[in-house]
Amino acid sequence: MARVHPRPADTFLTGKELPDLQQLLGPAVPAYRAKQVYEALYRQNINDLSEATMLPDALRADLAAKEDLGRLKIDNRFSSVDGTTRYLLKLPLDGRTVETVLMPEETRHTICISTQVGCPVDCQFCLTAAMGLERNLTVGEIVGQVLVLLREHNLDPRSEQLNLVLMGMGEPLLNLDNVLKAIRILCDQRGVSMAVRRIALSTSGIIPKIEELGRAEIRPRLAISLNASSDEQRREIMPITRKYPLKELLEVCRNYPLKPREKLMFEYVLLGGVNDSEADAHRVVKLLANMKAVVNLIALNPGPGIPFKTPSVENVNAFQQIIMKAIPCYVRKPRGRDIYAACGQLKRTVTQELVAIS
Ligand code: SAH
Ligand code: SF4
Repeated sequence: MARVHPRPADTFLTGKELPDLQQLLGPAVPAYRAKQVYEALYRQNINDLSEATMLPDALRADLAAKEDLGRLKIDNRFSSVDGTTRYLLKLPLDGRTVETVLMPEETRHTICISTQVGCPVDCQFCLTAAMGLERNLTVGEIVGQVLVLLREHNLDPRSEQLNLVLMGMGEPLLNLDNVLKAIRILCDQRGVSMAVRRIALSTSGIIPKIEELGRAEIRPRLAISLNASSDEQRREIMPITRKYPLKELLEVCRNYPLKPREKLMFEYVLLGGVNDSEADAHRVVKLLANMKAVVNLIALNPGPGIPFKTPSVENVNAFQQIIMKAIPCYVRKPRGRDIYAACGQLKRTVTQELVAIS
């Protein structure tokens, strides 16, 4: 793929917080101008500096000459029969692409964004893992995915019907600094102004980073990809368990500083014949005993080279029934499997792969 000429991330306006912009404009420009630039970037969601009409012409021209807006460009888009749209967005930094998904439902919309290009965590059931890690996304690239979808679909970021999940490509806690800065911009009243409680982050269980997230003042809700009922089983399908054992992971979860009414979410990908037996379900209940938890079950989304089976609907239901007796438990509907947009299917797919699955 042709790469655009690499340029440093800090020449892009998108991703800058107010103090960064103040510094960029310098002491000669009045402070309120930085606020106007900030609002134009995130609240007005401009696509070109010419849209920032509240700025004086000279300042706009100066900014346009020196800085790039740094927005992501739509490289490709795939629509599913169930209404899900998967975007391949081109990153301004180096022309790599990243995946972002919009899942509309009757009463709400969910945007799913990526935090890395590829992923260094080697989960055996996930297609993104096969890419390895290409690089972390910058703050502007994380925020920028949301901005593109808000604009494309004319969505109101303040709406109670809009959810944002950091569950696309990548392990968000291995890019925590950029993720937290992006969340601050997304939730700032003068910025994108989303409600922080409508944002959730999912992790494979990077223990020290879970603790760091717990200390952050503005943080999304936390989902842990549990995916197994014992340490041994988890080590097989999520080798990162060797570094961060299940017992220690659950210990950190128990100590996580939840807010009033907040619950930890546990994601559990059901792999037919591997982790989906009734005995597994009973073990999961034991593992999560005495925790303020919710369990989300996901039947495996298939993909080329993924060496596991999707369990039957009956198995999924039986598993859910057992968990539900002790812990609230939901089954996640697969969304956009036909366009490779479902959990674990995000990989820079080419059209042949789409043909292969449809
Ligand atoms: N890296 C983070 C977030 C991205 S993955 C994490 O692992 O939590 C988002 C969710 O998709 C995780 O819960 C993961 O376990 C799940 N997932 C990965 N591959 C999947 C697949 N093939 N089918 C169903 N869910 C999958
Ligand atoms: Fe990475 Fe999450 Fe996929 Fe594991 S499931 S490889 S952590 S994206």
